[in-house]
Amino acid sequence: MRKPESWPVRPLLEDDESYSSWFSRAAWANGLRPSDLYRAMEPGQDRDPGDLDRYVDDHSIGRVAEAADIDPELLRQTTFQRWSGNVFAEDDGIHKLQWLYPVGRRNGKRCYGQQLCPRCLATPNTPYLRLTWRLMFVSACPTHGNLLLDRCPACNEPLNVLRQFGRGAITCWACGYDLRQASPCAPPIDPLPTQARLLQIASQGWAFMGEYGPVYAFLVFAILAHLNRLLTCGHHAHALRTWVSAHEPTLAIKPESIPRAREGALLSPRARSVLVPMASWLMDEWPTRFVAAAEALNMSSRDLLKKSPHAYPFAYAHVVENYLREPSGRHAGDQEVAAAKEILHNKGQRATRRALAQLLGTKAGSVSTLAERTGNGASWGNGRYWKLDGVSPEVKAAARIAAHRAGEGVGTWIDALVRQKLHLSTNRTIQD
Ligand SMILES: [Zn+2]
Ligand SMILES: [Zn+2]
Repeated sequence: MRKPESWPVRPLLEDDESYSSWFSRAAWANGLRPSDLYRAMEPGQDRDPGDLDRYVDDHSIGRVAEAADIDPELLRQTTFQRWSGNVFAEDDGIHKLQWLYPVGRRNGKRCYGQQLCPRCLATPNTPYLRLTWRLMFVSACPTHGNLLLDRCPACNEPLNVLRQFGRGAITCWACGYDLRQASPCAPPIDPLPTQARLLQIASQGWAFMGEYGPVYAFLVFAILAHLNRLLTCGHHAHALRTWVSAHEPTLAIKPESIPRAREGALLSPRARSVLVPMASWLMDEWPTRFVAAAEALNMSSRDLLKKSPHAYPFAYAHVVENYLREPSGRHAGDQEVAAAKEILHNKGQRATRRALAQLLGTKAGSVSTLAERTGNGASWGNGRYWKLDGVSPEVKAAARIAAHRAGEGVGTWIDALVRQKLHLSTNRTIQD
Protein backbone atom coordinates (compact mmCIF):
# COMPACT_ATOMS: atom_id res chain seq x y z
CA MET A 1 0.00 0.00 0.00
CA ARG A 2 1.10 3.54 -0.79
CA LYS A 3 2.80 5.37 2.03
CA PRO A 4 0.54 8.07 3.47
CA GLU A 5 1.77 11.56 2.69
CA SER A 6 3.01 13.64 5.58
CA TRP A 7 0.52 16.23 6.77
CA PRO A 8 1.72 19.83 6.22
CA VAL A 9 0.90 20.74 9.84
CA ARG A 10 1.48 18.07 12.48
CA PRO A 11 0.30 19.14 15.95
CA LEU A 12 1.99 17.64 19.00
CA LEU A 13 0.04 15.60 21.51
CA GLU A 14 -0.92 17.42 24.69
CA ASP A 15 -0.80 15.78 28.12
CA ASP A 16 -3.62 13.18 28.46
CA GLU A 17 -5.13 14.33 25.17
CA SER A 18 -7.74 12.04 23.58
CA TYR A 19 -7.35 10.71 20.06
CA SER A 20 -10.49 12.44 18.78
CA SER A 21 -9.27 15.76 20.21
CA TRP A 22 -5.81 15.49 18.66
CA PHE A 23 -7.19 14.20 15.34
CA SER A 24 -9.66 17.11 15.16
CA ARG A 25 -6.92 19.63 15.94
CA ALA A 26 -4.76 18.08 13.22
CA ALA A 27 -7.62 18.39 10.71
CA TRP A 28 -8.36 22.02 11.63
CA ALA A 29 -4.64 22.94 11.49
CA ASN A 30 -4.59 21.62 7.94
CA GLY A 31 -7.74 23.51 6.96
CA LEU A 32 -9.97 20.41 6.96
CA ARG A 33 -12.97 19.10 8.80
CA PRO A 34 -12.19 16.04 10.94
CA SER A 35 -14.52 14.00 8.72
CA ASP A 36 -12.56 15.08 5.60
CA LEU A 37 -9.22 14.14 7.11
CA TYR A 38 -10.76 10.86 8.26
CA ARG A 39 -11.90 10.01 4.74
CA ALA A 40 -8.51 11.01 3.33
CA MET A 41 -6.83 8.57 5.71
CA GLU A 42 -9.49 5.84 5.39
CA PRO A 43 -10.71 5.90 1.79
CA GLY A 44 -14.01 4.10 1.36
CA GLN A 45 -15.01 4.62 4.98
CA ASP A 46 -18.18 6.26 6.18
CA ARG A 47 -18.26 10.04 6.20
CA ASP A 48 -18.89 10.10 9.93
CA PRO A 49 -15.74 9.04 11.77
CA GLY A 50 -17.88 7.84 14.73
CA ASP A 51 -16.17 7.53 18.08
CA LEU A 52 -12.47 7.37 17.22
CA ASP A 53 -11.38 7.16 20.87
CA ARG A 54 -12.89 3.70 20.86
CA TYR A 55 -13.01 2.50 17.27
CA VAL A 56 -9.70 3.52 15.67
CA ASP A 57 -7.75 0.31 14.94
CA ASP A 58 -4.00 -0.35 15.07
CA HIS A 59 -3.67 -0.30 11.27
CA SER A 60 -5.26 3.12 11.07
CA ILE A 61 -3.16 4.39 13.96
CA GLY A 62 -0.05 3.23 12.08
CA ARG A 63 -0.97 5.23 8.96
CA VAL A 64 -1.94 8.33 10.91
CA ALA A 65 1.21 8.11 13.05
CA GLU A 66 3.34 8.00 9.91
CA ALA A 67 1.58 10.98 8.32
CA ALA A 68 1.83 12.97 11.54
CA ASP A 69 5.37 11.83 12.32
CA ILE A 70 4.45 10.63 15.78
CA ASP A 71 5.15 7.44 17.78
CA PRO A 72 2.23 5.04 17.11
CA GLU A 73 2.42 3.67 20.66
CA LEU A 74 1.93 7.19 22.03
CA LEU A 75 -1.10 7.53 19.79
CA ARG A 76 -2.49 4.17 20.92
CA GLN A 77 -2.37 5.46 24.50
CA THR A 78 -4.76 8.28 23.53
CA THR A 79 -7.54 5.74 22.85
CA PHE A 80 -9.59 3.44 25.08
CA GLN A 81 -6.86 0.83 24.57
CA ARG A 82 -5.08 2.62 27.40
CA TRP A 83 -7.64 1.11 29.81
CA SER A 84 -8.11 -2.29 28.22
CA GLY A 85 -7.86 -4.93 30.96
CA ASN A 86 -8.02 -2.26 33.67
CA VAL A 87 -11.24 -0.26 33.42
CA PHE A 88 -12.93 -2.92 31.28
CA ALA A 89 -11.89 -6.52 30.59
CA GLU A 90 -11.69 -6.31 26.80
CA ASP A 91 -13.47 -4.54 23.96
CA ASP A 92 -15.43 -6.66 21.48
CA GLY A 93 -16.42 -3.48 19.64
CA ILE A 94 -20.12 -4.25 20.11
CA HIS A 95 -21.17 -4.14 23.72
CA LYS A 96 -21.25 -1.01 25.83
CA LEU A 97 -18.01 -0.64 27.76
CA GLN A 98 -18.03 -0.40 31.50
CA TRP A 99 -17.64 3.28 32.53
CA LEU A 100 -17.04 4.45 28.95
CA TYR A 101 -20.14 5.62 27.12
CA PRO A 102 -20.84 6.36 23.47
CA VAL A 103 -20.66 9.90 22.26
CA GLY A 104 -22.76 12.13 20.00
CA ARG A 105 -25.88 10.84 18.30
CA ARG A 106 -26.27 7.11 17.79
CA ASN A 107 -29.38 5.92 15.94
CA GLY A 108 -31.15 9.15 16.79
CA LYS A 109 -30.34 8.80 20.48
CA ARG A 110 -28.31 11.42 22.28
CA CYS A 111 -25.23 9.95 23.96
CA TYR A 112 -23.46 12.04 26.57
CA GLY A 113 -20.17 10.12 26.78
CA GLN A 114 -17.94 13.15 26.16
CA GLN A 115 -17.32 15.49 29.07
CA LEU A 116 -15.16 18.59 29.34
CA CYS A 117 -14.09 21.29 31.78
CA PRO A 118 -14.97 24.78 30.45
CA ARG A 119 -12.25 26.37 32.57
CA CYS A 120 -9.54 24.04 31.26
CA LEU A 121 -10.58 25.03 27.74
CA ALA A 122 -10.34 28.70 28.72
CA THR A 123 -6.67 28.53 29.75
CA PRO A 124 -4.40 30.42 27.36
CA ASN A 125 -2.72 27.20 26.17
CA THR A 126 -4.00 25.00 23.34
CA PRO A 127 -7.60 23.99 24.09
CA TYR A 128 -7.98 20.21 23.93
CA LEU A 129 -9.99 17.32 25.39
CA ARG A 130 -8.50 14.96 27.96
CA LEU A 131 -9.00 11.22 27.55
CA THR A 132 -9.83 10.93 31.27
CA TRP A 133 -12.90 13.12 30.60
CA ARG A 134 -14.37 10.08 28.86
CA LEU A 135 -14.39 8.03 32.09
CA MET A 136 -17.82 8.19 33.69
CA PHE A 137 -16.52 7.87 37.24
CA VAL A 138 -14.79 11.19 36.53
CA SER A 139 -17.27 14.03 37.05
CA ALA A 140 -15.22 17.03 38.23
CA CYS A 141 -12.05 18.77 37.12
CA PRO A 142 -9.11 18.03 39.46
CA THR A 143 -7.49 21.38 38.57
CA HIS A 144 -10.52 23.66 38.91
CA GLY A 145 -12.82 21.62 41.17
CA ASN A 146 -15.97 22.35 39.14
CA LEU A 147 -18.27 19.78 37.58
CA LEU A 148 -17.52 18.70 34.05
CA LEU A 149 -19.98 19.51 31.28
CA ASP A 150 -21.55 16.69 29.28
CA ARG A 151 -23.82 18.71 26.98
CA CYS A 152 -24.01 22.15 25.41
CA PRO A 153 -25.54 24.58 27.95
CA ALA A 154 -27.25 26.46 25.12
CA CYS A 155 -28.89 23.63 23.15
CA ASN A 156 -28.37 20.49 25.32
CA GLU A 157 -26.79 18.64 22.41
CA PRO A 158 -24.09 16.09 23.34
CA LEU A 159 -20.51 17.26 22.79
CA ASN A 160 -18.79 15.87 19.72
CA VAL A 161 -15.49 17.40 18.70
CA LEU A 162 -15.20 15.31 15.54
CA ARG A 163 -18.25 17.05 14.08
CA GLN A 164 -16.93 20.52 14.72
CA PHE A 165 -15.17 22.69 12.17
CA GLY A 166 -12.95 24.47 14.66
CA ARG A 167 -11.47 27.89 14.53
CA GLY A 168 -9.26 27.99 17.59
CA ALA A 169 -11.82 27.23 20.29
CA ILE A 170 -13.78 24.07 21.09
CA THR A 171 -17.44 24.84 20.46
CA CYS A 172 -20.78 23.05 20.31
CA TRP A 173 -20.91 21.37 16.91
CA ALA A 174 -24.67 21.91 16.69
CA CYS A 175 -25.15 25.58 17.65
CA GLY A 176 -21.63 26.96 17.72
CA TYR A 177 -21.74 27.89 21.43
CA ASP A 178 -18.23 28.63 22.70
CA LEU A 179 -17.90 26.09 25.52
CA ARG A 180 -15.40 28.27 27.39
CA GLN A 181 -18.33 30.58 28.20
CA ALA A 182 -20.21 27.94 30.22
CA SER A 183 -20.45 28.97 33.86
CA PRO A 184 -18.76 26.35 36.04
CA CYS A 185 -20.94 24.60 38.65
CA ALA A 186 -19.67 23.38 42.00
CA PRO A 187 -20.30 19.69 42.78
CA PRO A 188 -22.77 19.05 45.67
CA ILE A 189 -20.04 17.14 47.54
CA ASP A 190 -16.31 16.88 46.87
CA PRO A 191 -15.85 13.90 44.52
CA LEU A 192 -12.15 14.55 43.85
CA PRO A 193 -10.56 12.24 46.48
CA THR A 194 -12.66 9.28 45.25
CA GLN A 195 -11.96 10.18 41.66
CA ALA A 196 -8.21 10.34 42.23
CA ARG A 197 -8.26 6.94 43.93
CA LEU A 198 -10.23 5.36 41.08
CA LEU A 199 -7.87 6.83 38.47
CA GLN A 200 -4.98 5.39 40.45
CA ILE A 201 -6.65 1.95 40.40
CA ALA A 202 -7.26 2.29 36.64
CA SER A 203 -3.58 2.90 36.02
CA GLN A 204 -2.10 0.36 38.47
CA GLY A 205 -4.48 -2.40 37.38
CA TRP A 206 -5.56 -3.73 40.78
CA ALA A 207 -6.85 -2.72 44.19
CA PHE A 208 -7.12 -4.25 47.63
CA MET A 209 -10.63 -5.32 48.51
CA GLY A 210 -10.65 -6.12 52.21
CA GLU A 211 -10.73 -9.83 52.90
CA TYR A 212 -10.56 -10.62 49.17
CA GLY A 213 -7.04 -9.20 48.91
CA PRO A 214 -5.76 -7.71 45.66
CA VAL A 215 -8.42 -7.79 42.93
CA TYR A 216 -8.01 -6.94 39.22
CA ALA A 217 -9.03 -3.38 38.45
CA PHE A 218 -11.66 -4.29 35.86
CA LEU A 219 -13.40 -6.46 38.49
CA VAL A 220 -13.20 -3.62 41.00
CA PHE A 221 -14.85 -1.36 38.43
CA ALA A 222 -17.48 -4.01 37.72
CA ILE A 223 -18.41 -4.14 41.43
CA LEU A 224 -18.39 -0.35 41.58
CA ALA A 225 -20.80 -0.34 38.64
CA HIS A 226 -23.18 -2.77 40.44
CA LEU A 227 -23.22 -0.64 43.57
CA ASN A 228 -23.64 2.49 41.48
CA ARG A 229 -26.65 0.88 39.80
CA LEU A 230 -28.21 0.02 43.17
CA LEU A 231 -27.87 3.68 44.13
CA THR A 232 -29.17 4.91 40.77
CA CYS A 233 -32.30 2.89 40.10
CA GLY A 234 -34.52 0.23 41.58
CA HIS A 235 -36.68 0.52 44.65
CA HIS A 236 -33.80 0.35 47.14
CA ALA A 237 -31.98 3.35 45.65
CA HIS A 238 -33.64 5.91 47.91
CA ALA A 239 -33.13 3.89 51.07
CA LEU A 240 -29.54 3.09 50.18
CA ARG A 241 -28.70 6.76 49.53
CA THR A 242 -30.33 7.65 52.85
CA TRP A 243 -28.37 4.94 54.67
CA VAL A 244 -25.02 6.09 53.23
CA SER A 245 -25.88 9.75 53.99
CA ALA A 246 -26.62 8.83 57.60
CA HIS A 247 -23.37 6.90 58.03
CA GLU A 248 -20.90 9.19 56.26
CA PRO A 249 -21.20 12.95 56.95
CA THR A 250 -19.17 13.90 53.85
CA LEU A 251 -21.80 12.12 51.73
CA ALA A 252 -24.86 13.54 53.50
CA ILE A 253 -27.23 14.71 50.80
CA LYS A 254 -30.98 14.61 50.25
CA PRO A 255 -31.64 11.47 48.17
CA GLU A 256 -34.24 13.29 46.06
CA SER A 257 -31.76 15.95 44.95
CA ILE A 258 -30.18 13.38 42.64
CA PRO A 259 -32.52 12.07 39.95
CA ARG A 260 -33.27 8.41 39.54
CA ALA A 261 -32.46 6.89 36.20
CA ARG A 262 -33.57 3.89 34.26
CA GLU A 263 -31.30 0.89 34.26
CA GLY A 264 -28.27 1.57 32.06
CA ALA A 265 -29.07 5.24 31.51
CA LEU A 266 -26.24 7.69 31.91
CA LEU A 267 -26.65 10.21 34.71
CA SER A 268 -25.41 13.79 34.55
CA PRO A 269 -21.97 14.65 35.99
CA ARG A 270 -23.71 16.26 39.00
CA ALA A 271 -25.54 13.02 39.83
CA ARG A 272 -22.44 10.90 39.29
CA SER A 273 -20.36 13.24 41.47
CA VAL A 274 -22.49 12.02 44.40
CA LEU A 275 -23.38 8.45 43.49
CA VAL A 276 -19.89 7.26 42.51
CA PRO A 277 -18.34 8.40 45.83
CA MET A 278 -21.28 6.70 47.62
CA ALA A 279 -20.67 3.46 45.73
CA SER A 280 -16.95 3.69 46.36
CA TRP A 281 -17.53 4.34 50.08
CA LEU A 282 -19.70 1.20 50.26
CA MET A 283 -16.81 -0.74 48.70
CA ASP A 284 -14.32 0.35 51.31
CA GLU A 285 -13.65 -2.17 54.11
CA TRP A 286 -15.18 -4.74 51.78
CA PRO A 287 -17.60 -6.26 52.52
CA THR A 288 -18.40 -4.87 55.99
CA ARG A 289 -20.18 -1.65 55.00
CA PHE A 290 -22.00 -3.18 52.09
CA VAL A 291 -23.30 -6.10 54.16
CA ALA A 292 -24.37 -3.74 56.95
CA ALA A 293 -26.30 -1.58 54.47
CA ALA A 294 -27.91 -4.56 52.74
CA GLU A 295 -28.96 -6.10 56.06
CA ALA A 296 -30.34 -2.82 57.36
CA LEU A 297 -32.41 -2.35 54.20
CA ASN A 298 -33.53 -5.94 53.98
CA MET A 299 -31.82 -6.47 50.63
CA SER A 300 -31.13 -10.08 49.87
CA SER A 301 -29.60 -12.18 47.12
CA ARG A 302 -32.90 -11.83 45.27
CA ASP A 303 -32.33 -8.07 44.97
CA LEU A 304 -28.59 -8.20 44.56
CA LEU A 305 -28.07 -11.01 42.06
CA LYS A 306 -30.38 -10.51 39.10
CA LYS A 307 -28.39 -12.89 36.92
CA SER A 308 -26.57 -16.11 37.71
CA PRO A 309 -23.85 -15.55 40.36
CA HIS A 310 -21.26 -16.50 37.72
CA ALA A 311 -22.10 -13.31 35.82
CA TYR A 312 -20.67 -11.27 38.71
CA PRO A 313 -17.13 -10.82 40.00
CA PHE A 314 -16.36 -13.45 42.65
CA ALA A 315 -15.69 -10.84 45.34
CA TYR A 316 -19.27 -9.59 44.89
CA ALA A 317 -21.22 -12.79 44.26
CA HIS A 318 -19.44 -14.58 47.11
CA VAL A 319 -20.32 -11.82 49.56
CA VAL A 320 -23.98 -11.91 48.54
CA GLU A 321 -24.19 -15.70 48.67
CA ASN A 322 -22.31 -15.89 51.93
CA TYR A 323 -23.84 -13.07 53.94
CA LEU A 324 -27.07 -12.06 52.25
CA ARG A 325 -28.60 -15.25 50.97
CA GLU A 326 -32.40 -15.27 50.89
CA PRO A 327 -33.41 -18.02 53.33
CA SER A 328 -34.70 -20.75 51.04
CA GLY A 329 -36.66 -22.90 53.54
CA ARG A 330 -40.39 -22.52 53.63
CA HIS A 331 -42.41 -20.84 50.89
CA ALA A 332 -45.50 -18.88 51.81
CA GLY A 333 -48.42 -19.20 49.45
CA ASP A 334 -50.71 -16.38 48.35
CA GLN A 335 -53.46 -17.34 50.79
CA GLU A 336 -51.09 -17.52 53.72
CA VAL A 337 -49.67 -14.08 52.90
CA ALA A 338 -53.16 -12.62 52.46
CA ALA A 339 -54.15 -13.95 55.87
CA ALA A 340 -51.02 -12.46 57.42
CA LYS A 341 -51.82 -9.12 55.80
CA GLU A 342 -55.24 -9.15 57.37
CA ILE A 343 -53.79 -9.87 60.80
CA LEU A 344 -51.43 -6.91 60.46
CA HIS A 345 -54.19 -4.60 59.22
CA ASN A 346 -56.43 -5.61 62.11
CA LYS A 347 -53.60 -4.60 64.44
CA GLY A 348 -53.43 -1.25 62.63
CA GLN A 349 -50.04 -2.07 61.08
CA ARG A 350 -48.91 -1.86 57.49
CA ALA A 351 -48.21 -5.15 55.73
CA THR A 352 -44.69 -4.30 54.59
CA ARG A 353 -42.30 -6.96 53.41
CA ARG A 354 -40.40 -6.82 56.67
CA ALA A 355 -43.54 -7.12 58.80
CA LEU A 356 -44.85 -10.02 56.71
CA ALA A 357 -41.52 -11.80 56.77
CA GLN A 358 -41.39 -11.51 60.55
CA LEU A 359 -44.90 -12.81 60.99
CA LEU A 360 -44.55 -15.68 58.54
CA GLY A 361 -40.95 -16.54 59.36
CA THR A 362 -40.00 -16.49 55.67
CA LYS A 363 -39.25 -13.94 52.98
CA ALA A 364 -39.78 -16.41 50.19
CA GLY A 365 -42.79 -17.02 47.99
CA SER A 366 -45.45 -14.36 47.53
CA VAL A 367 -44.23 -12.11 50.35
CA SER A 368 -42.34 -9.72 48.08
CA THR A 369 -45.07 -9.43 45.51
CA LEU A 370 -47.94 -9.03 47.95
CA ALA A 371 -46.23 -6.78 50.48
CA GLU A 372 -47.09 -3.10 50.65
CA ARG A 373 -44.30 -0.84 49.54
CA THR A 374 -42.41 0.74 52.40
CA GLY A 375 -41.56 4.42 52.38
CA ASN A 376 -38.74 3.81 49.90
CA GLY A 377 -40.79 4.05 46.75
CA ALA A 378 -43.03 6.84 47.95
CA SER A 379 -40.17 9.01 49.20
CA TRP A 380 -39.33 9.99 45.64
CA GLY A 381 -42.35 12.24 45.79
CA ASN A 382 -43.78 11.12 42.47
CA GLY A 383 -45.47 14.27 41.23
CA ARG A 384 -45.65 15.84 44.69
CA TYR A 385 -43.58 18.92 43.83
CA TRP A 386 -45.66 19.00 40.74
CA LYS A 387 -48.91 20.02 42.36
CA LEU A 388 -48.14 23.70 41.98
CA ASP A 389 -51.44 25.52 41.89
CA GLY A 390 -51.81 27.74 38.88
CA VAL A 391 -49.02 26.16 36.82
CA SER A 392 -50.48 25.39 33.43
CA PRO A 393 -50.27 21.88 32.04
CA GLU A 394 -48.13 22.99 29.10
CA VAL A 395 -45.58 24.63 31.41
CA LYS A 396 -45.46 21.44 33.46
CA ALA A 397 -44.98 19.36 30.33
CA ALA A 398 -42.32 21.72 28.93
CA ALA A 399 -40.46 21.81 32.26
CA ARG A 400 -40.49 18.04 32.46
CA ILE A 401 -38.96 17.78 28.99
CA ALA A 402 -36.40 20.53 29.65
CA ALA A 403 -35.33 18.93 32.95
CA HIS A 404 -35.00 15.57 31.25
CA ARG A 405 -32.86 17.03 28.47
CA ALA A 406 -30.63 18.72 31.04
CA GLY A 407 -30.20 15.35 32.79
CA GLU A 408 -31.95 16.52 35.95
CA GLY A 409 -35.02 15.74 38.04
CA VAL A 410 -37.83 18.28 37.65
CA GLY A 411 -37.56 19.56 41.24
CA THR A 412 -33.81 20.17 41.07
CA TRP A 413 -34.11 21.75 37.65
CA ILE A 414 -36.82 24.21 38.74
CA ASP A 415 -34.89 24.99 41.90
CA ALA A 416 -31.80 25.95 39.87
CA LEU A 417 -33.87 28.03 37.45
CA VAL A 418 -35.66 29.98 40.16
CA ARG A 419 -32.41 30.55 42.02
CA GLN A 420 -30.89 32.00 38.88
CA LYS A 421 -33.90 34.23 38.29
CA LEU A 422 -33.93 35.49 41.89
CA HIS A 423 -30.14 35.81 42.08
CA LEU A 424 -29.94 33.33 44.95
CA SER A 425 -26.76 31.41 45.68
CA THR A 426 -26.40 28.31 43.50
CA ASN A 427 -24.66 26.44 46.30
CA ARG A 428 -27.32 24.89 48.40
CA THR A 429 -26.41 23.45 51.74
CA ILE A 430 -26.35 19.73 51.25
CA GLN A 431 -28.97 18.65 53.78
CA ASP A 432 -31.35 21.56 53.17
ZN1 LIG B 1 -10.53 22.32 34.55
ZN1 LIG C 1 -25.21 23.89 21.34
